[in-house]
Amino acid sequence: MAKLNRPPVIYSPTTLQDLLKIYSLNPDSLIYAGGTGLQFGSTGDNFQIRGSVINIAGVEELKKINRTDRYLELGASVPVSRVIDLGKSIVPEALYAALKQMGPPQIRNMATMGGNICRQANTMDIFPVLHLHDSQVELRKFRENRSPRRFLKGVGSRWIPVSRLLDNEGKITMDKGEILTRIRIPSENWSFQSYRKIDGPGAPLIFTALANMDKHIVTDIRLSFSTVREKLIRNRDIEAEMIGHRVPFSKRDLALLKGKLENYFKGTGESSFTTARASALTIQFLEKISEPVDEGSYFQ
Ligand SMILES: Cc1cc2nc3c(=O)[nH]c(=O)nc-3n(C[C@H](O)[C@H](O)[C@H](O)COP(=O)(O)OP(=O)(O)OC[C@H]3O[C@@H](n4cnc5c(N)ncnc54)[C@H](O)[C@@H]3O)c2cc1C
Repeated sequence: MAKLNRPPVIYSPTTLQDLLKIYSLNPDSLIYAGGTGLQFGSTGDNFQIRGSVINIAGVEELKKINRTDRYLELGASVPVSRVIDLGKSIVPEALYAALKQMGPPQIRNMATMGGNICRQANTMDIFPVLHLHDSQVELRKFRENRSPRRFLKGVGSRWIPVSRLLDNEGKITMDKGEILTRIRIPSENWSFQSYRKIDGPGAPLIFTALANMDKHIVTDIRLSFSTVREKLIRNRDIEAEMIGHRVPFSKRDLALLKGKLENYFKGTGESSFTTARASALTIQFLEKISEPVDEGSYFQ
């Protein structure tokens, strides 16, 4: 006898407490935020959800934005378009550029920050930027073994660097019943920022870079790459070699750095095309920070 496809059970909590409680009781449920990541690649007709779904769109606590001197804090369900509306003076420029390049405007209105981070896709546009900015994410879950009378005390929360969400295989991992609730981005001044999303074979390749300079000396530099295969490629040894370096970089220094970067890329199994693009983007960035500029913040 043919099995009938049962419609999914849909929960629509309106408070964070209810959400965590429902999720703890139904830990195999699918969390549905804006739905754009889940529907990516489907034509509408072939989009199917089985089992139970927790729609988190009605949870107001997850839509809050908070700003202090030290950080910008975004609720996980804040839509991408709302972050763009905050403007470049509040949102770090590389993150702002990443958000502006994300899909068409209708998608940016629905797509949430948390959904972008939690999506199990090969590349997630904002992940490398958040990582370079040392952003933290808050994960919450309803702790088990608590009596219902002590429910308030039963909610556990932990803050971790965004990169710790990735396991060794580059998969997003959270404990069962855990929800991403907030994203905290430190307020820092960077002399140079860059965010480039390059199309081409095996694309996209995402290049993100931050650098700080003081009197023509590189005081801090961070570079990351995301490809279809790898969510995050970063070599802190190469970065450390550049710190303390006086700009402009000589042709010889640039050639040495290029060689080291390409060697490192080869070890990740990336194609020679991607490797060449990655090293070209890095050299362009190093040339940019070598240009004489007035004090301030520059974006490429
Ligand atoms: C036409 C189109 C173009 C797109 N272009 C881009 C692009 O250029 N760049 C890009 O990065 N993405 C793109 N996307 C993918 C998608 O829009 C984004 O990744 C988006 O940010 C996902 O957010 P969402 O709220 O829609 O997530 P959802 O689809 O609701 O969820 C995505 C995943 O995250 C989980 N999840 C969501 N919120 C939470 C939470 N708070 N805690 C725990 N788990 C959670 C869900 O269970 C699901 O597994 C595109 C999608 C479409 C349809």
